[in-house]
Amino acid sequence: MISYKILSTEKYIILTNEVLEYFDQHRQVGVNSKELGGQLFAKLEEKRIVIAKVTGPRTSDKRGRFSFIPNRKAEQREINIMFSKGLHYVGDWHTHPEKRPSPSRTDINSMSECFHKSKHELDSFILVIVGQDNPPDGIWLSLHRRQEYEALFPMPIE
Ligand SMILES: [Zn+2]
Repeated sequence: MISYKILSTEKYIILTNEVLEYFDQHRQVGVNSKELGGQLFAKLEEKRIVIAKVTGPRTSDKRGRFSFIPNRKAEQREINIMFSKGLHYVGDWHTHPEKRPSPSRTDINSMSECFHKSKHELDSFILVIVGQDNPPDGIWLSLHRRQEYEALFPMPIE
């Protein structure tokens, strides 16, 4: 697992081994592979946001080598099902065809749009980008609010 510390709130975001394995299987390494992604679901604890389940890709998503447009209706269905299992929608993930990924302008804009539109219990949204390198280097994780975002870095739990 990998843990990230949110400095402003002293909380940790955890990526479980199950989730890391899922990302590993979907890394965009082939020359003709396309971007894909899905949603992040977490157990919300007092000090920890444990990302325990991720969804996607779906056949109804629109995918290109450098783009990814999810099916928003299917996403809402996932959110409802996961909620009934005690898992909260906390953000999105997708792949990039680069070793150490960072968000594009479009990624940043669409995350602040999500933040606006969605009903959620967090003060920010999580974006994970899965690159080609092994974790933790190959994984980008950031927190998004209305206009700003904050990149988080792996930090062991104290
Ligand atoms: Zn992207």
